[in-house]
Amino acid sequence: MDIRITKTTAPKVKPPDAELGFGKFFSDHLFAMDFTVEKGWHDARIQPYGPFQLDPAAGVFHYGQAMFEGSKAFRGNDGHIRMFRPEMHAKRMAIGAPRLCMPTPSEAQMTEAVRALVKVDSDWVPKSEGTSLYMRPTLIGTEGFLGVRPATKYLYFVIASPAGNYFGGKGLKSVRIWVETHDVRAPRGGLGATKAGANYAASLLSAMTAKKAGFDQVLWLDGKDHEFVEEVGTMNVCFLIGNTLVTPPLSDSILAGVTRDSVLTLAKELGFGVEERPISIKEIRAAHQAGTLKEVFGTGTAAVISPVGELAFGGEQLTINGGQPGPVAQKLYEEIGAIQRGARPDTHGWLQMID
Ligand SMILES: *Cc1c(COP(=O)(O)O)cnc(C)c1O
Repeated sequence: MDIRITKTTAPKVKPPDAELGFGKFFSDHLFAMDFTVEKGWHDARIQPYGPFQLDPAAGVFHYGQAMFEGSKAFRGNDGHIRMFRPEMHAKRMAIGAPRLCMPTPSEAQMTEAVRALVKVDSDWVPKSEGTSLYMRPTLIGTEGFLGVRPATKYLYFVIASPAGNYFGGKGLKSVRIWVETHDVRAPRGGLGATKAGANYAASLLSAMTAKKAGFDQVLWLDGKDHEFVEEVGTMNVCFLIGNTLVTPPLSDSILAGVTRDSVLTLAKELGFGVEERPISIKEIRAAHQAGTLKEVFGTGTAAVISPVGELAFGGEQLTINGGQPGPVAQKLYEEIGAIQRGARPDTHGWLQMID
């Protein structure tokens, strides 16, 4: 792929690592590429970060043809920059987009786009432990036309945002979760297996309501009977019951997390049983009562592992591991972090060197 590079003439001042947080700052450049029916994908470019001009009738504004990805580049202990499984993220966008009738660049082109932007903005990959450069590929329908049908023009772009240590550098922290028994994140047959922006729109109200009630996020149940667990907030969810890690099987209402896959792989290697099967909220309550529910945690690129210390369900509060992060969550968090920094051998071929 030929990428035309226009460098900024006004580089921004980089914030100190301690002030990064998540999604607040953006690097100096972005990657963009256009699609038209006549030309296909064309005009791959890296240009200074800044606003786009879009037709107010563009499909993205009206009919929600929008999806995104999220992956990270890490500066290792040796100073080299590595990306964690970027090809998996490209593949997920390629698999998900047809559900929204959107074309994507090839998986190779999308991986190359992300890598090229990391290279141009390599100074933006922070150094402190637990920090990263978060990459946000996005795909939107741009044709100005109000008829309801798939757009004929699209924009694929990638922006980069330096991200701080998710837990503030003080080790893992548990969250309190409210079990959502009315609203649904993604119904059967919907968009749940894709990173469509629409899924996030569907989730905001529950998350806000949970926050107002003093919780951090919600546990999503299946959209049909509100019986089986699906995801936690914007993460996949794992339950350690006895010595077995149980997680819901992938379906058209659950996103196939790259972290989920990595965690299941490592858990097997560490000697845990791993079961991908439907798990009901009733079973979780019973395991809690029997004392076999050892740990609960979410998995996702942003936090890697997010331990759940409490599940509030139907007036009951289930406290997990005394409300503290458990040893298995801790172990998995450390293992993945060490692999990402190049501090452990990459025995699975999960890393791509950038420089
Ligand atoms: C992004 C996302 C995840 C986590 O996927 P990763 O590839 O591990 O980052 C899980 N669930 C939802 C709904 C997501 O949007």
